[in-house]
Amino acid sequence: MSIYEQYETVIGLEVHIQLATESKAFCTDPTSFGAAPNTQISPVSLGHPGTLPRMNKRQIEYAVKLGLALGCEINRENQFARKNYFYVDLPKGYQITQDDLPICVGGSLKIRLENSTKDIRIHRIHMEEDAGKSIHDQAPKHSLVDLNRAGVPLLEMVSEPDFRSSEEVYSYMSEVRKIVRYLGISDGNMEEGSLRCDVNVSVRKKGDTKLGTRCEVKNVNSLRYAKRAVEFEFKRQVDIIEAGGTITQSTLNFDPATGRTSPMREKENAHDYRYFTDPDLPPVILTDEFIEDVRASLPPLPEQLVQQFTKELGLPEYDALVLTEERSMAEFYLALIKHTKQYKTASNWVINIIKAYLNEEDISIEEFPLSPRTIAALMALVESKKVSFAAASQKLFPALTKQPQQEPEALAKSLNLMQDSDAGSIEHFVDQALAKFPDKVKAYKKGKKGVIGLFMGEVMKLSRGKANPQLANQLLRKKLEEA
Ligand code: ADP
Ligand code: MG
Repeated sequence: MSIYEQYETVIGLEVHIQLATESKAFCTDPTSFGAAPNTQISPVSLGHPGTLPRMNKRQIEYAVKLGLALGCEINRENQFARKNYFYVDLPKGYQITQDDLPICVGGSLKIRLENSTKDIRIHRIHMEEDAGKSIHDQAPKHSLVDLNRAGVPLLEMVSEPDFRSSEEVYSYMSEVRKIVRYLGISDGNMEEGSLRCDVNVSVRKKGDTKLGTRCEVKNVNSLRYAKRAVEFEFKRQVDIIEAGGTITQSTLNFDPATGRTSPMREKENAHDYRYFTDPDLPPVILTDEFIEDVRASLPPLPEQLVQQFTKELGLPEYDALVLTEERSMAEFYLALIKHTKQYKTASNWVINIIKAYLNEEDISIEEFPLSPRTIAALMALVESKKVSFAAASQKLFPALTKQPQQEPEALAKSLNLMQDSDAGSIEHFVDQALAKFPDKVKAYKKGKKGVIGLFMGEVMKLSRGKANPQLANQLLRKKLEEA
């Protein structure tokens, strides 16, 4: 057994979710990403003397949404605190956050692993504001600062130390991203920093119940980096312990270029934040009515849809997971099955044909030109054997995407794709095929049943691909038995 196998890794995550509000948490500055530096600021977000912050109601609403979606308890009485520290990207000299009374406590998020699921417990979710950004790579001798992000509303979601592997961390982060997108509270865009996490990692001997000392890898902004940071930390910490050392609690950076973590330049020296209640912001009291209104506005959540798709519609779990990856895709599927009871066939169309088309065209389902009703009409043509599946998916579907206003059946007729289910004309082709290869008919009679493939090919050729294959096959067998 390798030494690493004697250890397990324990991980807890602090996820920062940047909210998709139009204005900042405590003033009306806009929040759009990518604006020219220092154009989305005002005396309030810069913390000039005499200015007063004012709560953005949307932040509360979004926090409650997330809390309800994760089964948290919602605190009715909310207060804001000042977390004081000095840094150039923090113009006020403090961050407005919540301290001992966060808006949500408890709750959990289900993650999916290869062959199982696991509930990760949520410790708390609190509201706060983002800091600005220091930029070190744009001027040779100076650091620059962009304060556009200062004051943008965030939720910080802190998990219990429930993770035991980098795969679990990866799955959790993708689940968080999916759920905030379903809820419409954040774009979940990790590359743009809308979703970032601090990864707390410790190790201990397998079987130990006491937690080891944790190190915190700050501000990881990709799923893969989070996974790699855990893997690197695990080895690094085990190596230290095995060499007789001890782990000291520390704050680390992850460098994607090397895959290594390294101690951070301590920006918040001494860690005495001197929290106190923000005197400029009155407590926010949530009524039951407000909370119930938010609850009523919740969309169906991915996990509920997976249950519905597998249990009520009988879809395989794989299909259910692919269909619910994005809310708009799930909604398309739900709209489609209003027009058809062929749930699995509908899922095949969405997953195999529509998704492939979206990928090829590099567009989203919102930009997909065909309505669920049109797809249902296409499915019905195949179901009634008027058009073969091959012709429907490879010819009619692409043609429809270019002429989305056309009725599928009319277009199939004008493209000459209607399948022949007329037994009389198929019989004619069958007779021709049999007449062409008399020796193969004999071979069939002697037991070489495989030659039927040759006859099928011939019938399809004669009918120019339009003979209904099932009918053709039936007729061929009948005639061969009789021959
Ligand atoms: P801080 O802001 O000081 O980092 P928080 O309580 O906000 O503290 O977050 C601590 C995070 O670290 C939580 O996600 C928690 O689950 C996790 N954590 C705490 N102790 C350990 C440990 N020994 N090993 C791994 N993770 C831990
Ligand atoms: Mg932390």
